[in-house]
Amino acid sequence: MTEAERHSHRRSVVVAGAGIPGLTLALALAQANGPALSVTLCDPGLAAGAARHAGRAYAVAAGGRRMFERLGVWQTALPAAQPIRDMVVSDSRLADPIRPVFLTFAQDRSEPDGAPFAHMVEAEPLAKALLAAAEAAGVAFEAHGITEATATARGIRIVRNDGQAREASLLVAADGGRSRLREAAKIGWVGWSYPQMGLVATIGHERDHEGRAYEHFLPSGPFAILPLVDGGPLGHRSSIVWTERAADVPALTGGGPEETLAEIERRFGLNLGRLALERGPSAHPLAFGLARSFRAERLALLGDAAHVIHPIAGQGLNLGLAGAASLAEAVTDALRLGLDPGSPDVLARYERARRFDTLAMGAMTDGLNRLFSNDVLPLRLARDLGLGLVDRLPALKRLFIGEAAASRGSLPRLLKGEAL
Ligand SMILES: Cc1cc2nc3c(=O)[nH]c(=O)nc-3n(C[C@H](O)[C@H](O)[C@H](O)COP(=O)(O)OP(=O)(O)OC[C@H]3O[C@@H](n4cnc5c(N)ncnc54)[C@H](O)[C@@H]3O)c2cc1C
Repeated sequence: MTEAERHSHRRSVVVAGAGIPGLTLALALAQANGPALSVTLCDPGLAAGAARHAGRAYAVAAGGRRMFERLGVWQTALPAAQPIRDMVVSDSRLADPIRPVFLTFAQDRSEPDGAPFAHMVEAEPLAKALLAAAEAAGVAFEAHGITEATATARGIRIVRNDGQAREASLLVAADGGRSRLREAAKIGWVGWSYPQMGLVATIGHERDHEGRAYEHFLPSGPFAILPLVDGGPLGHRSSIVWTERAADVPALTGGGPEETLAEIERRFGLNLGRLALERGPSAHPLAFGLARSFRAERLALLGDAAHVIHPIAGQGLNLGLAGAASLAEAVTDALRLGLDPGSPDVLARYERARRFDTLAMGAMTDGLNRLFSNDVLPLRLARDLGLGLVDRLPALKRLFIGEAAASRGSLPRLLKGEAL
């Protein structure tokens, strides 16, 4: 191998997994480093393009929105982004005639720049905007999975599922909660499954949601109504994330669309008028999990490969976006200093930046789910008092909406809307 070849493969990053965090990282790295870094994105799902993201929508917090603006994709995705202008939290049983409201976010909903604290963004147009921008920035797409990775004296040897091998400076495993690459690297995983499923559906309704999100804490788990941009036959739409005991899901959704809609109506309420089931529900098993380390030799874990959390606060993707911003910064800063982007120092910096926030968010979502997803009277009283407390403590409230970190100086540059 010549010196030039050695040099070139030290400056290449392969991202395995083109979910939103993997795509965002690939784009950020390619934009910031141009020809100084070769960026390859591998995912068998790339063959299906953005269409495979259809039907999913995420609450993207202000930091993620600022990063997408900086990367130039927000303007393209904007028609699919609904600002969340208010959030109402209630705690009741399903049969209760009224749902007392314990917590509202309306009064401090905005960011200092006047923007809402979060947007509901549909995943398909967001992925489409990210794919187009990544292609324009020079990211190479390969519709293959990565099956093996072995650190060598010079880099990391990466093998695709068709047997093709290459060497890179750094492999980013963004291959989801059941990350095969995490297992292959023998990185431990602490986690458990919840006895719950998350049902995701798009609901059409007659009346305007006015940008208001609802989270109803019911004994079987939270039922979230999240506003989407207007559209559909009834004129207005929301996405629901409906958490149910896994054992009850077949009975609740197995009777056909009309019965499923009737169950949704019991939880959704009638304040938005007539409802229609426009898409779904799709069922997702729910789990908590945290990798014992976010790195191995020349390997970084990103997104759900590093952490899986309960969707009770809609923060899983936001954690992945924060990871993409931190890793892009650590790699880019190293390259600018002429350092090896896959070196232990770079990966340690990334891990230090993300570990505490991730653990804190994981513990909070797990605790909230345990506290709320039951019907035990003393716990009900305790949590009602607890929510009243949250309403009085702006800092805790900000944690709940995923923006506790927004005011901290340690935020990665992209989440502050700054260039890398
Ligand atoms: C019900 C529900 C609702 C949610 N709502 C929200 C919300 O409102 N806001 C929020 O922030 N988060 C939310 N989340 C969390 C969010 O969905 C996840 O955190 C996020 O999708 C994780 O993205 P990822 O790319 O890390 O993983 P994935 O989306 O699982 O993507 C992994 C990718 O890796 C690819 N892949 C797998 N193996 C390989 C391989 N060997 N080589 C190459 N590629 C591979 C796959 O094809 C896939 O494209 C929710 C989660 C659930 C379950």
